[in-house]
Amino acid sequence: MSEKQVPIIAFNQVDLSFGDTHVLNNIDLEIETGKFYTLLGPSGSGKSTILKLISGQLTADSGDILFEGKRVNNVPAEKRKVNTVFQNYALFPNMNVFDNVAFGPTLKGMNKTEIKNKVKSMLDLVKLGDFSERDIDELSGGQQQRVAIARALANDPEVLLLDEPLSALDYKLRKSMQYELREIQQRLGITFVFVTHDQEEALAMSDWIFVMNDGVIQQNGSPEDIYDEPINHFVADFIGESN
Ligand code: ADP
Ligand code: MG
Repeated sequence: MSEKQVPIIAFNQVDLSFGDTHVLNNIDLEIETGKFYTLLGPSGSGKSTILKLISGQLTADSGDILFEGKRVNNVPAEKRKVNTVFQNYALFPNMNVFDNVAFGPTLKGMNKTEIKNKVKSMLDLVKLGDFSERDIDELSGGQQQRVAIARALANDPEVLLLDEPLSALDYKLRKSMQYELREIQQRLGITFVFVTHDQEEALAMSDWIFVMNDGVIQQNGSPEDIYDEPINHFVADFIGESN
C-alpha cells in the first residue's frame, strides 16, 4: 500500500447550480477502491446531488469528474459501472423477487443458468435465499430493501451508491442492516458510497467520512479524526448532536 493508487472516483473543483441556487461549491474528493465512504450532512446539504453526479444522472456546470483518472463528465449513466440503492427501494412491484434481481443480468444477455446462479448468490448475500418466488408486496420494508441491494449488486457495479437506504427502517432493523451492509461491502471488496444524515450511523459504518453543509465539504477523514478533531463549529455541533 506504499504507492498511492489512482482513485476510482475523483471530483476536481466541481460546481453545480439549479437556477439561482448554488447547490455544490468547489467540491474536491477522492474515493479509493474497496472502501466504505459516507457523505454525511443535514438535509439539503448536497449529498444526493453528489451521488447523481457520480451516477451520471446530473452533469456538473464546471470542474472534472474522473473515474480511474479519466474524465467522465459527459459519459452517460448506463456506461458507468455504478448502481444506486434508494431509500424508497424502487423495486418493480409487479415482478417477484427473482425477476427483480434478474432484471440487470437479463438485460446484459446472461444465459439462464448464469442468471439463476447470479440471483441465488445475491439473494444468499442479503439473507433472502428462500424468498425468490415471493411477490414484492408480501415483503417487509427491511426485506424489500435487501432485494433492492441484491438487485443493484447483480449488475456487478464497481461502485455501489446508497442514498439513505436505511432511513425508512425502524431503529432495531437499521442497526442490524448497518452491520450487514458493512459486511457485504467487505465481502465483495467493492466501493460503497453511502449517504446519511445520521452521524452515529456514519461513525459506525465508514472507513472515511465527508461531512457536508450547504454544498461544501466541511471536513473529510476517518471516523476517529472527525469525532476527535472536528475542524470547525459546524462539524463539532453536527457530530455532537444526537438523533
Ligand atoms: P441532500 O441529499 O443532502 O438532502 P440534495 O443534494 O438533494 O441534498 O439537494 C441539495 C440542494 O439542492 C437543496 O437545496 C435542494 O432543494 C436543491 N435541489 C436538489 N435537486 C434540485 C432540482 N432538481 N431543482 C432545484 N433544486 C434542487
Ligand atoms: Mg438526499
